[in-house]
Amino acid sequence: MSPLSRRDMFRGAVLLGTGAALGGLELSIAGPAAAAVAAPTIAGCATWGARNPSSTLSQIATDANKIIIHHTATANSTDYTQAHAFSLARSIQNYHMDSNGWSDTGQHFTVSRGGFITEGRHYSLSHLTSGNGMVVGAHCPGQNDQAIGIENEGTYTSATPPTTQFNKLVDLCAYICDQYGIAPTKIYGHRDFVSTSCPGDAFYAQLPALRSAVAAKLSGGTAWSAIVDNSSAGFSASTAWGTSTYSTQRYGADYRYAAPVAASDPAYYSATLPSAGNYKIETWYPGDPGYNAATPFVVFSSAGSQTVTVNQTTGGGAWRSLGTFAFAAGAQQVVGVSRWTSGTQYVIADAVRITKA
Ligand SMILES: [Zn+2]
Repeated sequence: MSPLSRRDMFRGAVLLGTGAALGGLELSIAGPAAAAVAAPTIAGCATWGARNPSSTLSQIATDANKIIIHHTATANSTDYTQAHAFSLARSIQNYHMDSNGWSDTGQHFTVSRGGFITEGRHYSLSHLTSGNGMVVGAHCPGQNDQAIGIENEGTYTSATPPTTQFNKLVDLCAYICDQYGIAPTKIYGHRDFVSTSCPGDAFYAQLPALRSAVAAKLSGGTAWSAIVDNSSAGFSASTAWGTSTYSTQRYGADYRYAAPVAASDPAYYSATLPSAGNYKIETWYPGDPGYNAATPFVVFSSAGSQTVTVNQTTGGGAWRSLGTFAFAAGAQQVVGVSRWTSGTQYVIADAVRITKA
């Protein structure tokens, strides 16, 4: 079944259900479209304790036509609680109202590093839930009456967002795209419209991955997936591994490299897998004729370690499959990049994507 037919069948089923309850009268009501994408949990203004707007907010009937991604440029907090997310929402609102002199929070939604979504400006959530119209924001001059603005807690000039935050952003964007009929290609960074570093070099480099993850979710893909970059908490490597920004094919802000050595000194990628089963493992690396033609990727599957050799002289700047492997559930080392290979050319450890098969 194609994703489109699945989506249409879902909408049809919901319509039939409503019709049975209302005797078919709903056909004359312009209600919200039944969502193919489940609504993520979003804490509304009343839930996190927002102040009232200082003046009447402008609400318009036209739908948003794009999404703009921001980072808050605040600390990369390790407080991943809901209480912290609510506190952040309040402090952003205070700053926007008291320091910037705005009527209310500027952006429409905020995603905390712990993966909690909060409503920003009042009425953002009610418009999104109905799929009709929007409240005019204050997050990107020229786009405030067209773009849904999402602030992501953290500073992502060199670090990338935690997996939990990134995955929740995918959920939110997919829901927004579905409700407003926005194509996932219409997800932008703040810097695409205004001279600003926002949302940071490392995060901005992830926007292609964000768009493709949102597209996959919209097309019915529900597979769990996680990306572990060399800047992620799940990555570890010894100081013998250097850090480089040399190749523009890199994922995120930079990548790690090391010369071959006949010793065990892998760069490790760890993740918490949600369930036992098969996972597709992919790697993203910058390809360069000066890199190693036989870099060993060791996959720590539940059937034992399996080595896949990758030619890093070519084929970079995209996800390359290492294959599908069985894993147990839970936190674990998933992949290692080994230095134990021939030649003198650098082995590269950049990003790994793990997707439930
Ligand atoms: Zn911004």
